[in-house]
Amino acid sequence: MDIDPTLSKEIAASSGSTADIVARLEALARENAMALGRVDHVTRLPNRVQFVDDFAMQSKSGGNSRLILVTLADARHFNEILRALGHAYSEDFVREGAARLVAMLPDSVQLYHVSVLSFAFFTDGPQFAEPPPIVQEIVDRFREPIRCLDIPINSKVGVGISALDEGASTPSELLRSTLAAAQDSRRSFDGWAWYDKNSDEAHRRAFRILTDLPSALAASDQLSLHYQPRICMKRGACIGAEALIRWAHPDMGNVPPAEFVALAESTALITRVTEFVVRTAAAAVSAWQREHSGIRVSVNISPKNLEEPDFVDLLLWETEAAGVDPALFELEFTEGTLAANPSLMRDQLGRLRDKGFDIAIDDFGSGYSNMSYLSLLPAKYLKIDQSFIRPLESGRKNQLLVRSIIDMAHALDYHVVAEGIESRDIYNMLSGWGCEQGQGYYMSRPLTEANFLTWLASGPVH
Ligand code: C2E
Ligand code: MG
Ligand code: MG
Repeated sequence: MDIDPTLSKEIAASSGSTADIVARLEALARENAMALGRVDHVTRLPNRVQFVDDFAMQSKSGGNSRLILVTLADARHFNEILRALGHAYSEDFVREGAARLVAMLPDSVQLYHVSVLSFAFFTDGPQFAEPPPIVQEIVDRFREPIRCLDIPINSKVGVGISALDEGASTPSELLRSTLAAAQDSRRSFDGWAWYDKNSDEAHRRAFRILTDLPSALAASDQLSLHYQPRICMKRGACIGAEALIRWAHPDMGNVPPAEFVALAESTALITRVTEFVVRTAAAAVSAWQREHSGIRVSVNISPKNLEEPDFVDLLLWETEAAGVDPALFELEFTEGTLAANPSLMRDQLGRLRDKGFDIAIDDFGSGYSNMSYLSLLPAKYLKIDQSFIRPLESGRKNQLLVRSIIDMAHALDYHVVAEGIESRDIYNMLSGWGCEQGQGYYMSRPLTEANFLTWLASGPVH
């Protein structure tokens, strides 16, 4: 750290031993750094700004340098400490954690306090996959609780390691990727983790999907619905279609719905995704009635939507605005997720059913739902998961299983829909076992709205 020239004068004016002068010099340097925003006010360790400056020197020294990043707790755990014990105590916790780390490191190693709960330092390590020994020492040492005001608190550290010669081009990027490793380490048995490009890329892709989704929702040309015909097995006639969302991302290409819908479900964005789907599907099914009276649409609804107090109103509003009878509108909920909050789900589904919407349990058999609970849901359709249907030709066991699902569903008053019918033989089998409706590539893949209407005009499946 550079020392302010005014400090040099002060030191020159001070008297005492060399040790006094050095101590005073260091204290003044710290104050100076603090004034320049380079020292963390809680631990008085150099902060991220200082790290960024020092990184240039470190990276020049090259060799087998590693960056080690230690996070004392994950955000949830820290919030619990904050909530239970308050801010002052939480600062003590961070200070104690820092002191423990400083005590473990040789004097020559500088520890940086790079974010509220994270500390980083450079160290040299063996060339290959072995982590520097200090890493295991940290993991072991932090298994002991941190004591503040005599209260023992478990720290839940994460320890990430990055090699300086691998990829990261800037200090901020190096910190970010080592933090990603520290987060990954919470899932590892060892308690530490190397930076993992694949895991990091998956996280970054997920992050990009979530940050780009709002602009996709605002744009008119990125999100659309495709429609997969749903067939009455006996007549081969199309009775409706399942709306399936598609996202043509301008740079990433087509992003699969199973990927981005699942991510959106962890945020409030799912509300807007479902709003888009319901509005688009309502307008489409309304338009279809002119030429194909009675043709229906089904949409996939996230269970998160059912937790929104105004969701039923939204559905009523959108279908009414498009002039669609709710009886033409089916709502699909996946089996596993319906079981998450049984009483709320049952009440909300009951309200929807009362308003005239049909309910389907999607992907039946893919979860581990309690059958007696499912039988209480006010659903009309049970859609057997395609993982049961696609292998039907390959063995008697599968066939027995599907037959018994169909019989059981009928005994519980469900209509059965089979998903994933890919061949004429499977179609015939299911039809013979009394399965009422089906979807699958054998009849048609999901189609754009225009192609669906052309397909519809071509008549029943033979
Ligand atoms: P899902 O609701 O079970 O939809 C059926 C999926 O199986 C669709 O995949 C469809 O293209 C595919 N499929 C249909 N027939 C066949 C077949 O014969 N063989 C094979 N191999 N696949 C077939 P897609 O469109 O990729 O959607 C995947 C999942 O993403 C959907 O599963 C659903 O859970 C979710 N999803 C799609 N659109 C939406 C949406 O608008 N909202 C919500 N919340 N979820 C959606
Ligand atoms: Mg579905
Ligand atoms: Mg399904």
